[in-house]
Amino acid sequence: MFLTISTSGTAASPATDLGFLLHKHPGNAQSFTTSYGVAHVFYPEADAERCTAALLLEVDAVALVRRGKGKGRGGAPDAALAQYVNDRPYAASSLLAVAIGNVFSSAMRGVCKARPEAPAQPRPLRVEVPALPARGGPVLVRQLFEPLGWTVTAEPVALDTGFPEWGDSRYVGLVLESEALTLSEALRHLYVLLPVLDDAKHYWVSSEEVDKLLRAGEGWLPGHPEQKLITSRYLSRRWSLTRQAMERLELVRLAEADDSEVEEIDNAVEEEAEAEEKPTPLAVRRREAIIEALRRSGASRVLDLGCGQGQLVQALLKDPAFTEIVGVDVSMRALAIASRRLKLDRMGERQAARVKLLQGSLAYTDRRLRGYDAAVLSEVIEHLDPPRLPALEYAVFGAARPRTVLVTTPNVEYNVRWETLPAGHTRHGDHRFEWTRAQFRAWAHRVAELHGYEVGFTAVGPDDPEVGPPTQMAVFHTGTATVVAKEAKAA
Ligand code: SAH
Repeated sequence: MFLTISTSGTAASPATDLGFLLHKHPGNAQSFTTSYGVAHVFYPEADAERCTAALLLEVDAVALVRRGKGKGRGGAPDAALAQYVNDRPYAASSLLAVAIGNVFSSAMRGVCKARPEAPAQPRPLRVEVPALPARGGPVLVRQLFEPLGWTVTAEPVALDTGFPEWGDSRYVGLVLESEALTLSEALRHLYVLLPVLDDAKHYWVSSEEVDKLLRAGEGWLPGHPEQKLITSRYLSRRWSLTRQAMERLELVRLAEADDSEVEEIDNAVEEEAEAEEKPTPLAVRRREAIIEALRRSGASRVLDLGCGQGQLVQALLKDPAFTEIVGVDVSMRALAIASRRLKLDRMGERQAARVKLLQGSLAYTDRRLRGYDAAVLSEVIEHLDPPRLPALEYAVFGAARPRTVLVTTPNVEYNVRWETLPAGHTRHGDHRFEWTRAQFRAWAHRVAELHGYEVGFTAVGPDDPEVGPPTQMAVFHTGTATVVAKEAKAA
């Protein structure tokens, strides 16, 4: 069983930092005895530009059977021979996940004494598992990893029988690539999803596994579109445990949404609207600027991502040029208010067919968001913790990929002009950051370059000669060249 993790580096963050993050020196090969065999960690390559760590697990199949742990789910007694003659030593499986948990436990927890700030930073990662048993095949592999921000290559491995008509084996060769994830997230994804794909645990599943699942799934399992399948398979389909975990996941999700998102953000929206709409109708000006830019882009099918209480959706509905409008928000409360504002329940059929409200988090890729002309992120990015921002960037610009994306955010330089705002304060307590014009531009240029968009900037509100406008807007378009190139590739 074999897995490699690679990263590339820059001057500020050399690839060999992988050694610090994994707590394993790139110069040494190390071996660890686990209860199922020996795990070896070594680095096939390690320089400032590229560094690859390999984890090789030599499973002692005989010891495994003697320990009475080789049967898997429902292992039949007459399968005695199969217990010895099986694929265990070659295929990645739940045992590889156990080895990850044993050998890289600090890295999984995101602890790094030598570089305390490093674990929180996403870095370019490439994970390769040449032979991964995957019940559900490449399709399920993609459904599990893509929503987490991975670009997935999953090739079925052909059966080596000499009879091509026998088809493919149950293995896939897996390559995962991402620039938006931390190493801790990557390891925790593998720790949970490798056994889920293998779908045959090689050890007894007890209620401790529920804790392990929730710990490893922190921050990504609640809200994952396949969370039910993941939970049930991870717990070997033991319904009482699955139910326990689902109950706790629901609680985790509600708790997460409750304190950090629903309430503060609902208040944020209300207060922002109140504070702004009286002295300067900035919220109104922002909507006008957005609608103007959407019209210019020729969009007719539009996503309002982080739509809040639906003011923009309502304004867009008044213009028949917009034939389909989808509001998306993580907050059920905001959506309930939006639905009331739009009078969705009393709308005529034709109007109702033009508008949809969806609950979802922008930190996950979401198939429902593909294929639209334009997406708006109005005053949303500043509500995300900076380490979550790359996940949103990937979900919007990489996966949903509308032709046009509009992003607005406060210009922090303008804050000195707000009479009621004490120096050094953000405009609202839930803003995780507010950017200067230079910071916003640098971010937008980086995102545009990474995902093949062109970007321009527009001021919203009075453009102060010294500190600029209160709201800054970036307008992203996919270059036609990119679109053509992509289509050519697809054909
Ligand atoms: N677009 C509206 C609301 C901005 S307030 C406007 O311009 O007035 C920010 C909104 O983003 C809130 O409604 C909040 O619930 C939503 N939001 C924050 N994080 C989110 C996430 N990860 N996924 C989806 N929506 C999110």
